[in-house]
Parts: sequence; structure tokens; C-alpha cells
Amino acid sequence: AAKTAGKNCVIWYDRTLRRRQSERIETVAKLRLALDADEFAVHYQPIVDLGTFRTVAVEALVRWLPPGEAPIGPDRFIPASEESGLIIALGEWVLRRACSEAAAWHREHGVTLTVNVSPRQLTDDTFTAKVRRILADSGLPATALALEITEGILIGAGTGSAQALAHLEALRADGVRIAIDDFGTGYSSLGYLRDLPVDILKIDRSLMPAGEDDHRQIALVRTVVDLARSLSLTTVAEGVETAFHATLLQELGCDRGQGYHFARPMPATNLTAGQFGQVPIREVSQSPF
Ligand code: C2E
Ligand code: MG
Ligand code: MG
Ligand code: MG
Repeated sequence: AAKTAGKNCVIWYDRTLRRRQSERIETVAKLRLALDADEFAVHYQPIVDLGTFRTVAVEALVRWLPPGEAPIGPDRFIPASEESGLIIALGEWVLRRACSEAAAWHREHGVTLTVNVSPRQLTDDTFTAKVRRILADSGLPATALALEITEGILIGAGTGSAQALAHLEALRADGVRIAIDDFGTGYSSLGYLRDLPVDILKIDRSLMPAGEDDHRQIALVRTVVDLARSLSLTTVAEGVETAFHATLLQELGCDRGQGYHFARPMPATNLTAGQFGQVPIREVSQSPF
């Protein structure tokens, strides 16, 4: 009986796996068509200086807007894009769109841009050249761009990470800054922060304390901010959802904050109509993000 059950399991597993695979292939095919059909958009979320409460940077966040359907967030298509390699084309599209939109914001308001980069993009030999060309075409200075990566990219001694490192070092020499995204969710090894080409530390929103009584979490955030400061890194807290978060982070000496308390990600048109250099207005649009 056990043998039969085992066999059934194998068959079930095989079917499920095949169905999932074909779903993935379908998704990737749809994403490819969507890219050709220009169905993606870049939304921007303000990053606020906690000393002045002014918007000093924006993070580019990709959305898929299939016509006649609800918008789709990146968590639902970035993993498949990464696995299939489509992220190389999609990431390049996002970077080009974001740099060209941000160039005017930087010129007129000094606002800088930060863009997420997937591990797969850094395995592309031409990544550095592409970024340089996009910067030149858009007119955004290299010093006004930061690239967000997750720490996993740089940990481990594989040839992949050596190549990733080479891209980051070349771009950093041009003045592009490198941010570690979602700090506190991965290995969070401290040695690499000292040794690697990193300028900005983004503290993951899962580290934000629930309230004033959440002493352990407050101590944790304090430690991360102190560590980053001792390494001369710019600190950015993600998931600033309440006035308590903003005040606490300010007291802890965190440089910048990003989160729903200040503003949600929004289309470029809302941003330009909005108030760079001033205290950001709470987002009032119906954006589901
Ligand atoms: P991320 O880079 O950590 O971006 C921050 C995410 O947190 C965004 O989700 C943002 O909408 C959300 N967020 C901002 N403030 C708050 C807050 O106060 N509370 C909560 N609960 N969430 C907040 P989003 O836009 O859904 O993006 C999810 C992830 O998808 C991003 O996380 C990033 O890893 C990835 N992603 C987005 N755009 C791109 C892209 O162009 N390329 C790549 N490779 N990845 C991207
Ligand atoms: Mg990010
Ligand atoms: Mg993040
Ligand atoms: Mg994240």
C-alpha cells in the first residue's frame, strides 16, 4: 500500500510541477508581450529627510497595468521575470524610464533617484555599459542615482558575485551610490557592510517597532542605525507608517524615512504636481499600492 501511495505521490507531484511550470511559462509569455505593449509603469515613493521632513529622493517601483484589469504589483511578476531572465529587459526599461523622468526633478529640485536591481541583472556583462548609456541619454548625473540591491547578491564567493561586485565598483567610481535594501531580513552579516562598496543602508520595514512599548524592537533599530552611522552609511528606514515611527527614527539619528506615513508610491504626474522640497502631502489617490 505504501508503495502505491508513494507512486501516487510522485504522479501528483509531477502533475503539480508540470502545471506550475506551464503557468510560469504562460506568465513569462504574457510579461514579454506586456513589455512590448508598453503596459508597465513606474511609480515613485518619496524618501524624506528626517531632519527637515523634505523629500530628498524617490524610489522607482514598477507596476504592471494590463488594460481593463486591476494593476499588478511587482511581488507577482518580479520572481518569474527573474527566473526567466526577462528581468534584464524589464529592469533596463525601468531604469531608462525612471532616469528620464527623474532628470527634471533632479535639475529643478535636487531630488535623487533610487532604483531596484535584481541579482540576475548583475550577471549581464553589459550592465555597467547600459547604466552609463542610460545616464548619458537621460541627463541624470551619476551622483543623483542609487542602485538598490539585496545583501544576498554580494555574499558568497561565486563568480556571479565577483561579476556583480565588478559592476558595482565600476559604477560607484562614476559616482553612482549603492544601497543595501531590506537590511535585517537576510544574513545581515556585519563584515560585508565594512568591506563592500555600499553607501546607503535601507532598514527593512519588519524591524519597525509596533509602538513605544516595543522595547526590544526599538533597541534593534537603534543598534542598526548606530552600526550604519559608525560605517558612515546613509540610513533610510522603510515602512515608516506612523508619527511615532518618524519621531523615534529622528531621535535615533536615522537620516531618512520612507513609508505610508509620508506618502505612498504614486505615478510621476502626481509627483510633479506635488511638492518637492516641501513636506510631502499624504497621498490621496485611489492607488492600491
Ligand atoms: P522594496 O524595494 O523593499 O520596496 C518597498 C516596498 O514597500 C514597495 O512595495 C512599497 O510600496 C512598500 N511600502 C512602502 N512604504 C510602506 C509602508 O509604510 N508600509 C508597507 N507595509 N509597505 C510599504 P512594492 O512596490 O509592492 O514592491 C515590492 C518589491 O518589489 C520591492 O521591495 C522590490 O524588491 C521589488 N521591486 C519593485 N520594483 C522593482 C523593479 O523595478 N525592479 C526590481 N528588480 N524589483 C522591483
Ligand atoms: Mg527597494
Ligand atoms: Mg526594501
Ligand atoms: Mg522589500
